[in-house]
Amino acid sequence: MEKSLSPTDIARQTLRNLAQSKIPPTPDNFRRVYDEIAGVRSQDVMQVLSKLLKEAGQGRPKFAKLASQIEQDVARSDWAAVEKHLRQLMPTVPETGVPRLGDVVRELVREMEISRPGLTISKKKEGLERVLVNFGSDADVLASKLQGLIAAWKAGGEPMPELNEEPLPSSTPTQEVSAASTGVTIKVSATAALWRDILIRALEYGLMSQLKLYPALVKTAESLLAQAKAANTEEEVGQLGTALKAFWFKLEMESDAQYKVQQELLQLLRLLVDNISELVVDDSWLSGQTAIIRDIISRPLDIEVLYDAESSLKELIYKQGQLKHSILEARETLKHLAAEFVERLAEMSEHAGEFHQKMENYQQQITRTDDMTELSKILDNLMQDTKAMQLDALRAYDELKEAQAKVAQAEARIEQLTQEIEQLSLNAQQDYLTGTLNRRGMDDAFARELGRADRSGLPLSVALLDIDHFKKLNDTLGHEAGDAALAHLAKVVKAILRPTDIVARYGGEEFVILLPETDQAEGIKVMMRVQRELTKNFFLHNNQRVLITFSAGVAQRMPGEDQAAVLKRADEALYRAKHAGRNRVFGADSPSV
Ligand code: GH3
Ligand code: MG
Ligand code: MG
Repeated sequence: MEKSLSPTDIARQTLRNLAQSKIPPTPDNFRRVYDEIAGVRSQDVMQVLSKLLKEAGQGRPKFAKLASQIEQDVARSDWAAVEKHLRQLMPTVPETGVPRLGDVVRELVREMEISRPGLTISKKKEGLERVLVNFGSDADVLASKLQGLIAAWKAGGEPMPELNEEPLPSSTPTQEVSAASTGVTIKVSATAALWRDILIRALEYGLMSQLKLYPALVKTAESLLAQAKAANTEEEVGQLGTALKAFWFKLEMESDAQYKVQQELLQLLRLLVDNISELVVDDSWLSGQTAIIRDIISRPLDIEVLYDAESSLKELIYKQGQLKHSILEARETLKHLAAEFVERLAEMSEHAGEFHQKMENYQQQITRTDDMTELSKILDNLMQDTKAMQLDALRAYDELKEAQAKVAQAEARIEQLTQEIEQLSLNAQQDYLTGTLNRRGMDDAFARELGRADRSGLPLSVALLDIDHFKKLNDTLGHEAGDAALAHLAKVVKAILRPTDIVARYGGEEFVILLPETDQAEGIKVMMRVQRELTKNFFLHNNQRVLITFSAGVAQRMPGEDQAAVLKRADEALYRAKHAGRNRVFGADSPSV
């Protein structure tokens, strides 16, 4: 049995072999010959290691990258580099601040159960799936990627994974490139690989979620994605271009069809609105609403305009609902009275019939008798019956008169309510949500105040207020909370202002405030007071305090200036207040306030 050599023996034998073969005893030559004598085949070891690393690299680009680096280190016999790169594979102690996976999973489960506006459970699952596909086998980064996902859900969105963590190659020679998304090593130029990766990500993260409107295209997009993922040669990547072109063509056709559907729906709505009077017997109370809808569909669709329209429609529907109820009640009363009237008439004619019969009887009795005493009795009875009949007729007459008056009253009430409804539809002045004036109300108030200022010669200031980052509030707390926040702001503004000041909802989350007998400097102070009040009087959402801030521009009306001109100056000041960082009040003539 062969005795195994000790390391000293192997070293001695190595030196001997090197001397005999006249090979210079460099460290590399020494190691190679030493390994040969010891029976170690480092090349094999490196091959195994490289294979393992490449396999591991399927889910973790870092491993694939280290595998090719170590291969190059070995080829160069750069053992220091091999050690350095191998060390990078060692599990690292988590740095402080790196989230613990257990905590993150707990939070993830909690967050999964919370419903957030615009985030369906399937959307959440989709996001989670993406993170797991990309980082599921990379424990080093999984926790922080999951934490990022949770943060994005809380903020109302989903993060786009970074496009490519690797630096871009400066030249594009054909080489073996490891594609980050699949880990498959492909023989394509670095640029082609990069574009292939971008395409995969664009399809996966950008397009798929947008295809809800085009279910027919989901399958095509999925097969394009699969084709992109499997494209391993220059030729296959090239073929992707053709497939992509065909896909865009289909998408264009589909979106054209969608556009046509939208146009057709608008046309339908137009038809309905224009012909509403043909469909509804009494359409006068609808004319205001139909005018609003007609106005909206004549312009390009805009979410803000739709919100405004929804708000004024809701207001009208609510008020008209109340009035309609009163009208129905009045109609019921009328019906009831009419029924009573007819009953009374029937009764009267019945009584008249009985009386007639009695009279005939008395007549016969009188003809038959010659006895004065009996005659006197008959006449007595006749007198009594006639009196009773007279009383009956009198009472019936009074009752009928009363009923007639009630009918007239009910009719008048119906007439009045109908007119109110018509007026309401035509002249709705109030914003239903905030209780402030609406645009129409504001126009009237503006005209009144401009005239008054002209007559009195006293100053008039106009403030334009816009809530800061309102979209974000809507996105995080939901549209309903946004509505409640608007109502809260309007309440606080009205509480701070004098009764003679006027607040109007200018649109969306913008308000116009008319401050009679107030110059610009004073107007700015008033708006700042409102800002301070908002920091004390919080908006409460689910018992949580939510701070609402706004930016405002204040302009003092110049002599002869009209509504549009003064509003434009206030708007410019508001714009500067927003750009200066928000939560500020700027005057139109003092840019530095
Ligand atoms: P900025 O600070 O620049 O004003 O940011 P912002 O998000 O407030 O600005 P932007 O004007 O872009 O967004 C206003 C948002 O207000 C858009 C719309 O979603 C929302 N909004 C408009 N009207 C209503 C409404 O009646 N109710 C609710 N809940 N949201 C509304
Ligand atoms: Mg705005
Ligand atoms: Mg805003």
